[in-house]
Amino acid sequence: MRKTLLLLPGPVPVAQPVLEAMSWPMINHRGPEFAELLARLEREMKPVFGTSSDVLFLGSSGTGGLEAAVASCFSPGDRVLSCPVGVFGKRLAEIARVNGCTVEVLETPLGAALDPAALRTRLAQSDGAGFRGILLTHNETSTGVQNDMAAIAAVTRGHSALTIVDSVSGLGASPFEMDAWGYDVVISASQKAFAAPPGVAMVAVSQRAWKAIDSSRGTGYYFDLKKAREFASKGQTPWTPPISQFYALAVALERYHADGLEANFERHATYARAVRAAFETLGCSIFSRPDAHSVTVVAAYPPDGVDAAQLLKTLGERYGVVISGGQGELTGKIVRFGTMGDVAESDLLGAIAALELALADCGATVGLGSGVAAAALVLTDARTASVS
Ligand SMILES: *Cc1c(COP(=O)(O)O)cnc(C)c1O
Repeated sequence: MRKTLLLLPGPVPVAQPVLEAMSWPMINHRGPEFAELLARLEREMKPVFGTSSDVLFLGSSGTGGLEAAVASCFSPGDRVLSCPVGVFGKRLAEIARVNGCTVEVLETPLGAALDPAALRTRLAQSDGAGFRGILLTHNETSTGVQNDMAAIAAVTRGHSALTIVDSVSGLGASPFEMDAWGYDVVISASQKAFAAPPGVAMVAVSQRAWKAIDSSRGTGYYFDLKKAREFASKGQTPWTPPISQFYALAVALERYHADGLEANFERHATYARAVRAAFETLGCSIFSRPDAHSVTVVAAYPPDGVDAAQLLKTLGERYGVVISGGQGELTGKIVRFGTMGDVAESDLLGAIAALELALADCGATVGLGSGVAAAALVLTDARTASVS
C-alpha cells in the first residue's frame, strides 16, 4: 500500500510507540494491573480537562460519551437548550431527543461561533429558568469553528441547568478549565488531539452533575455513568474495556505530557494558522469567521471553478494526502484540513505542496510553492515568538 498522510479531523496519525502498545498482551480487567492503568489515565487526564473531579473512561467513540452524559443526567421530559453551531451540535441535540428530552434550539449561522450575549438573552427569557440542561460544543468539527468557552461559562455559571460540553475535537488542543469555568459534564475521545487510536471516550463529571445524575431517571444501560463511577472506584469499568486501546491511550498521554500542555496548545494553534495562511494564498476562502477559528480543523471553500469532491479525490488518489470534505449541508462545498495527531512540520508542508499540485490538476491557477511559503513563514514566526 502506498504511503498516505492522514490529515482528517479524526482519526489522526498515531506515533509508532502508541501503535505498538496495542500489541501488548491482554490482562485481567478485574485485576490490579488494569486498576493501575485506569488510575494513571485518570490522573494524567484531569489536568487536561482542568478538573479535580472524576474522569471516567468508556469503551466507545466520542458519541458514546455524549450519549452516556445525556442519558445519565436527564430524565424523559426534561427541557434542554441546545446551542449547535454545526453538525456535531445537532447530533448532541438529537441524542437528547432520542433520550426523551424536550429540546429547544438556539440557532447560530454556520461559520460563526455561539454568541454568549445571545445565550444570555435566551436564558433570561421568562421560560429560561426552566431548562434542566444546556448542550454546548467546544470545537465544531464540521465548520472549523471554536467557541469561546470561557466567555460562554460566564453566562452559564449562574444558571441551574447542567452544562454538557462536547469537547471531543477540542480538548487537549487548547486550554480548558472545567472547574474554574464551572462546566458540569465534559466529553472527549482518544482519536483527536490526544493522537491515540479511536475507541476510548472520556467523560469528566462535576460534583453538581453527580447530584443530578443520582436523582435522574437515567435512560441508558451500557452508557450509564453511575455504573461507570461505581466500577471506577474499584479500578474497573462495568463492561470489558478495549484493553489495547487503553494501553495506546496511556502511551499517547505520556507523550502528550512529555511535550507539555503549553507546547501542545501552541502546536495546534500554529499549525492551524499555517494551514489558513496556505489556503488563503492559494485562493481558498476560510469558512469560519475571523473571530471563530478552530485550532484543530480548518474548513475552506476551494477556489472558484474547482470542485471540492474532485480536489479531495485528486489529493488522496494521486498524492496520498487524505483530508475531509463537508458534512450536512456543506457536503461537496468545503474541504476540511485537520491539524491534530502525530504530524511533523515537514508533513504539514508536504501536504500543502500536494494541495498546490492537486489544485493545479483541478484547473486552478496556483503559484507552485506559494502556499508552502506562506505556511513556512507562520512556522518560523511562531518559533521566533516563542524564543523571544
Ligand atoms: C469526532 C467528534 C465527535 C465524536 O465522533 P465519534 O465518531 O463518535 O468519535 C463528537 N463531536 C465532535 C465535535 C467531534 O469532532
